[in-house]
Amino acid sequence: MLARIFCRHAAWLICIAGMTVLPAAAQNGSIGSASPAAAPQERPATPPSARESAEEEQAAKPEESRATQQYTLSHERYQKAITLSRAEYTLYFVSFFYGLLVLVLLLRLGIAAKFRDIAERVSDARFVQALVFVPLLLLTTAILRLPLRIYGHALSLRYEQSVQGWGSWLVDWTKSELLGLILSTLLVLILFAVIRRSPRRWWFYFWAAALPIALATFFISPWVIDPLFNRFEPLQTTHPELVTAIERVVQRAGMTIPQERMFLMRASLKQNSLNAYVTGFGASKRVVVWDTTIQKMTTDETLFIFGHEMGHYVLNHVRNGFLFIAASLLVAFYLAFRGLHWALDRWGALWKVRGPEDWAALAVMLIVLSVILFLASPLASGFSRMQEHNADVYGLEVIHGIVPNSAEVSAHAFQVLGEVDLSDPNPPAFITFWLYSHPPLADRLVFAHSYDPWSKGESPLFVK
Ligand SMILES: [Zn+2]
Repeated sequence: MLARIFCRHAAWLICIAGMTVLPAAAQNGSIGSASPAAAPQERPATPPSARESAEEEQAAKPEESRATQQYTLSHERYQKAITLSRAEYTLYFVSFFYGLLVLVLLLRLGIAAKFRDIAERVSDARFVQALVFVPLLLLTTAILRLPLRIYGHALSLRYEQSVQGWGSWLVDWTKSELLGLILSTLLVLILFAVIRRSPRRWWFYFWAAALPIALATFFISPWVIDPLFNRFEPLQTTHPELVTAIERVVQRAGMTIPQERMFLMRASLKQNSLNAYVTGFGASKRVVVWDTTIQKMTTDETLFIFGHEMGHYVLNHVRNGFLFIAASLLVAFYLAFRGLHWALDRWGALWKVRGPEDWAALAVMLIVLSVILFLASPLASGFSRMQEHNADVYGLEVIHGIVPNSAEVSAHAFQVLGEVDLSDPNPPAFITFWLYSHPPLADRLVFAHSYDPWSKGESPLFVK
């Protein structure tokens, strides 16, 4: 459940404050939850009281009674969804400010400077110093942040979003921290090399160097990183009948997605929530469907989910997401350059940081970058919501004419998704604006139920 706000294993990228926010955010295919980029998604408009009258209305029209016109939850699940989502929003903001506090304290108490002294005592070689300093700083912050991560997992266990035991969870945490450390150390070495060589333009050179690394990481992650956390199997071996159905949808779009690019993820070993996503690019591009989705949805509903994912695939959302993030990071790094000098001029002496090329300046850089990326959240979320909406449109269009009563099937798929994932029935507008990577679920459901260009003689947007 935490995955709705924090990435599962992609956190290691975010945690170095966006130096490589990219691979995490570029996995922008998910249907709903667990979009590693950012956040949660959904909401239904109807509180229980309003719902009752809607139900009465439906009871008067038996024909309509099975129609999924609105996202509705039982009283019990409604309360749970509200409590859980409010706790998650709070956790998101608390985590951000707590993370800042940790870094500020490490500087103010002279701990970052002490780590630097240790590193410099060990060796004169910059490379060796980085191998000492970066793990000291990053592991300290990771351990200090661990209590909030533990709380998040406890929350997802209590609300039955996760079934992962604490031992397995801790192993995953350790793996992701180690991966993060390896990548961070590499990036920090590059960062300080360019800062020393070009004190005024390092932000541009670092950007130019970090992009290919982030891209390469993202490219290999379906083969190298994802299997460290979950089991993947070809969809064809486990669900051949689903692949056959999917192929009809793929053909309808005039597309080819080879069977080898369709995977089943054994999500049920760790969680209850439903999802599917598109990841990788070029040779590693693929569609992944969680087994939980297949277990809890009908084949037709799963086809809609697949259609949505296919939308991401066909509409090049991964590539566009990458370009968006690349452009955003260029601006972010420039602002980080200005912010770093500003902060060091004011507090450098107090923090015992000698200048931008001092290892201890990394802590300052992380503060500055975190703040910039935090403030950019609404922009990233807005961009993602736009893509997700287009993927919904694509999914609706591509199953039209193949799946009988496709609008109702799609709306009901959202209903199932919301019930299982405990999607917030009523997210505050500010929360949607700030961190929803998907439109609120209730809006998506209503849109799915009412989208019908065909009967109006209009042309569909993507699938003609
Ligand atoms: Zn999506």
